[in-house]
Amino acid sequence: MKHYNYIFTGSGLSALMTVYEMIVSNTMKDKSILLLDVDAKKSNDRTWCFWDDSNRFEEIISKEWENTLFANENFRKQLNIEPYHYKMIQGSDFYEFIFKKISKNKNIHFLQDKVIDFSDLGNHCLVKTEQNSFTCNKVFNSIFNPNVITSQKKYPLLQQHFIGWFIKSKEPVFDENSATFMDFSVRQKGNTRFMYVLPTSKDEALLEYTLFSKDLLSKEEYETEIVLYIKNLGITEYEIVEKEQGNIPMTCFLFWKNNSKNIIHIGSAGGWTKASTGFTFKNVTKKSKQLVTFLATNSDFTKFHKKDKFWFYDLLFIDVLYQNNALGSKLFSNLFKNGNSGIILKFLDEETAWLEDLKVILKCPKIPFIKALIGRLFSM
Ligand SMILES: Cc1cc2nc3c(=O)[nH]c(=O)nc-3n(C[C@H](O)[C@H](O)[C@H](O)COP(=O)(O)OP(=O)(O)OC[C@H]3O[C@@H](n4cnc5c(N)ncnc54)[C@H](O)[C@@H]3O)c2cc1C
Repeated sequence: MKHYNYIFTGSGLSALMTVYEMIVSNTMKDKSILLLDVDAKKSNDRTWCFWDDSNRFEEIISKEWENTLFANENFRKQLNIEPYHYKMIQGSDFYEFIFKKISKNKNIHFLQDKVIDFSDLGNHCLVKTEQNSFTCNKVFNSIFNPNVITSQKKYPLLQQHFIGWFIKSKEPVFDENSATFMDFSVRQKGNTRFMYVLPTSKDEALLEYTLFSKDLLSKEEYETEIVLYIKNLGITEYEIVEKEQGNIPMTCFLFWKNNSKNIIHIGSAGGWTKASTGFTFKNVTKKSKQLVTFLATNSDFTKFHKKDKFWFYDLLFIDVLYQNNALGSKLFSNLFKNGNSGIILKFLDEETAWLEDLKVILKCPKIPFIKALIGRLFSM
């Protein structure tokens, strides 16, 4: 049976980002690494957007906006997100970029194969795929298993679910310099529902009808709302160039408790998705770097993760929206109408100091959060 130092079960964003960090840190040249994925990772299966104040991944940024817009049924506000820019990366560009780097490293191999099982046997791990079996010293798993969350009740699960259409319209209706971060003017129907609009030119944009809620909708429901939104923009003719859909877990479940000495769960499977927003890309850039630094001096993955104040803020946030899913529009509107957008984004990046935290927290509706706090204090 072939042995590797490291095996990545799943080779999407978090695995490739971790391998990228291994390559650029130049610390893993002596390690044999196998990346496994059921997919070839060549298709444009998702578009990532994130705010950033660095020039990381400049080569593959497909679009960048200095301005973002927040709206609900009563107001529209251009957000000043300094020092950040809002950026877009196409999945296929990211995969190609990383695989090009990997191809220059003889110690790293990719195999398209479906993983069916992996286990920590104490001194080494065993990974079984449909075609093969391997042993290794460490497993980095990013295959998401929804059962780990649905089989417990302590940490509720909301989902960020959406369908997006990339359209080309007859009319030049879009402001290509401004991304619509959240437009809550769409019918809420007792949920947290918004439209997310990413224009790449005056007549081209990705429109995503998005919910933060417990249950998914039928495909027709998302698409009916997208059609209505397009009509309200004044577009009479358009072509759907591409479609995407997603369902991202929003939960404070302690994913890292399932890590063992030799198996770490990474990406969404490891709780690297920001629970209160579903944003993952930026967190993955940070966590993968921390993980590679950790590996240089540690060998026990159970010691990698630590809870912090942001985990607790997210816990209350999810509790509030889980109990009262219609509150999302009010909650985000209060934040972005009156708050400093740069600080809110810094807060969501988990980089704010206590005083900055307070500036954000005090903009939230008090009673639901106090109720959620009391609920958690009595259940801990
Ligand atoms: C359409 C879409 C758009 C998104 N947009 C954004 C965004 O704009 N900003 C943001 O921050 N986040 C976004 N996200 C959320 C998040 O960034 C992505 O889901 C991200 O890809 C998560 O990284 P990951 O490594 O956890 O999982 P993935 O990238 O999904 O990687 C997991 C890999 O495991 C593989 N796999 C699954 N089962 C098996 C198996 N049995 N055997 C072998 N391989 C297997 C899959 O093929 C996949 O390649 C989006 C998600 C989706 C779905």
